[in-house]
Parts: sequence; C-alpha cells; structure tokens
Amino acid sequence: MRIYLDTLGCRLNQAEIERLARYFRAAGHEIVAAPEDADLAVLNTCAVTQKAVADSRQRARQLARAGAGALALTGCWVSLEPDAAAQLPRVRWVVPNPAKDALVAQVLGLPLEAFDLEPVAREPLPGLRMRTRAFVKVQDGCDNRCTFCITTVVRGPGRSRSVEEVLDDVRAALRGGAQEIVLTGVHLGSWGHDLTPRRHLRHLVAELLERLDIPRLRLSSLEPWDLDAAFFDLWQDARLARHLHLPLQSGSASTLRRMARKTTPQGFRALVEAARERIPEVAITTDIIVGFPGETEAEFAESLAFVESLGLAGGHVFTYSERPGTAAARMPGQVPHRVRKERNARMRAVLDAAAARYRSRFVGRTLTVLWERATRLDGQGWLVQGLSDNYLRVRARVAQNLWNRLTPVRIVRVAEDGALEGEVVAVHGASAAQPGPSGAVPPVLIKS
Ligand code: SF4
Repeated sequence: MRIYLDTLGCRLNQAEIERLARYFRAAGHEIVAAPEDADLAVLNTCAVTQKAVADSRQRARQLARAGAGALALTGCWVSLEPDAAAQLPRVRWVVPNPAKDALVAQVLGLPLEAFDLEPVAREPLPGLRMRTRAFVKVQDGCDNRCTFCITTVVRGPGRSRSVEEVLDDVRAALRGGAQEIVLTGVHLGSWGHDLTPRRHLRHLVAELLERLDIPRLRLSSLEPWDLDAAFFDLWQDARLARHLHLPLQSGSASTLRRMARKTTPQGFRALVEAARERIPEVAITTDIIVGFPGETEAEFAESLAFVESLGLAGGHVFTYSERPGTAAARMPGQVPHRVRKERNARMRAVLDAAAARYRSRFVGRTLTVLWERATRLDGQGWLVQGLSDNYLRVRARVAQNLWNRLTPVRIVRVAEDGALEGEVVAVHGASAAQPGPSGAVPPVLIKS
C-alpha cells in the first residue's frame, strides 16, 4: 500500500507520525509524499485550542478531497470527539490516543509482534516535509491538572518509555541520517517518575549522550518545577543544545494559582538564574497565556513587568481559549475577547523586543548551525538556512549544498526579518549534502 502520513500540533505528534512510518515500512509499505498518490492517509490530530480542532477537521477533509483512498484519523481531537471524526468523508479508522501505538497493526490486521523494526531506519517523511531533526518520544500523558489544559485530558496519565525503547528510536533516527535528536513528550520533565526504581530525565539524557554518538541533542518544552540547578550540569557536554523552553504561563502569582501551576514567579526567576550560571549564553524561551479567567489589568501588568524583567530569548503568547472539559472553562471572570487580543499584542511586543536583544548579541560571534533548507541560486551556489544550537534562525550563501550538515558560522548581521546572516567558517569531511540510507536527498529548490 502507498501511505501518506500527516500531522498537526506539537513535536510529540510529529514524533509519533514518524514512528508510524517506521511500522508501515517494516511491513513493506511505501510512504508517499502526496495524498493524491496514497491508498491510505493517516492524520495525527490536535485539540490544544479551538482553532487546532477546526484545522484538524479541515485537514481531514482536504486529504479526502485530494483523493486519498481511505483515512485513518488519530490524535487528541479524535480522542475528544471520536464520533465527529468518524462522520468525515472516507474515514475508515478512528484511533484514539491510547490505541495509537497499535494503529498500523489495526489498519493492516496484524499482531504487533509481526513488526520487526530493528532493520528499519527511521527516515524523514518524503517530500518538502523532509526534516533534518528527528523528534523522539520519550514520554506520554501527564499527572498534573493545570486548569486550562486539555492535553492532560486527552493524553491520559503520565507514562515513560523505557531507556532501551528510546535508545532504539534514536539509533534508528541516526541511521536515517538525522543530525539532531529532539526529545519530546507531553510532560517531558516527568520522564522516569513512574519507573521502578524512580528515575529523572537527567539520567536518560546522560545515558543517551554516553552511549550514542549523537551530533546534537535538544530537549523540548520542560515544566519548570521538574528541574533543579544540578540538571544544568548536563550542559558540560557541548552536544546538548543551549536552549531551554520553560513554560511560565503567567508572571502573576495569583494567576498561576488559578492555573494550578506548580511554580511561582520567584521560583521561576531562581531557575532562570541557575541555568544562566551553568550554561553560557543559554537561550531561555517561554509560553505565556494572556486573558486567563479572572485576569485583572493589575495582574496582567504584573505578568508583563515580570516577563520583561527576565530578559528572555523569546517565546509564544497564547490568547486564552476555553477548552470544554477543563476547569478554567467553568471559571467566573471570563475576560472579553477584545481585551485578550489587546493583551496578547502587548505581551508579544515585550517578548519580541527581548528576542531581538538576545539575537543581536551574536553579531561577530561564531555559532554552529544545522542546515535544514538549501536553495540553489542560479549559477551562484546555494542559500542555506538552519538553526543554531541556541535556537536562532541563520542563513548563509555557500558554494556547495550543506543540507543536513552542522557547520560553524560567523554571524555578520541581523537581517530585517530577524534572521541572522553569516559566513560559513569551515566545512569538515564530504563536500555535498548527506543522503539518507535510501539515497534520498531533499528536493532542490531552484531560485531564479
Ligand atoms: S503540565 Fe503541561 S501537559 Fe500537564 S496539565 Fe500542565 S500544561 Fe497540561
């Protein structure tokens, strides 16, 4: 069968859809780059906001219209509204999150034991979505009850994958040509809490770095209360990307209490300072929700001032979105949407200014960049674009295609769009792009 795989939402969804690809390949099926060429399309849906739900429905309809023979829908929206998902055109399988790992077995009518993943490298999905970074799921679910969060509702209790399962996935991704491994989960920092003996994420990270030759390792979002100063000693290993995404959600202590967040502004500031002490030039980014129920103008001003005082490297701002089934959706004091929108713009401005200040510190410095996109410039070499370890977007003009290569780059300026522009300092080893095991090299984008 020809299979088209697609996903919305978070890195965990991306990690899961790439793992499903490995199962289909292990069973001898082909992963195709476009839904119109597929006998079956699999979509991993999202439900984090109302917009994500609407996008999931729309994508499923698009896949059916594009001509995919049949659809299998899975993920968070499907877990929330399976009946609605089953009504959509060409849907043959509706697989809620708890059954997702067995989706391929269910679709193919095979027992899980029939799949021998060992010989199958984890290669990027074909087509323009080909990635140089591999997202690896280490954990699922969450035992917290942040009052705004639907994820904890649709993903179930926290559960960790074993060290051996994670090692196997990382090995397969490295065999598939990945230069960067990104560890991800619903509540990544809780990895190991449910294992016997109880372990901590730092044990897993240390074991991966010790046992595998990973060119670059990155950690996804980490809840602040899971970390302590000792955690940052891991960064003595230069392969660990100097980027910490720590969702604060609000800089107001009273708002954090209504959110049932296990952190305080003081605790968060102490953690940021401990990280900066141990990880030079670390990029610390965050998530902030504005317009949370009951958020007064005074609370918002407190949150804004606190975020500004941290001097972060950037972040996401989410306008509070009621999610049926969460405690916050039933709270009094819902903030008018006009006010939520206005607060989003003010918080956005503070984080954008902080991000610009952080970026500008690297002009004249050398950063290591993983090149993720390569565009051939008519007779003038290539334009390559990628991310530094501290999560800055960088581009450069080079003589050869450096897709999927890690190279040092001297930063010469900040461009108008905020990207850094640089000069590649040196290219070690083979001259051109590194193909995957199947010889796949990314589609070349010609810029005239
Ligand atoms: S810790 Fe994260 S996933 Fe868990 S309930 Fe809170 S926001 Fe949701």
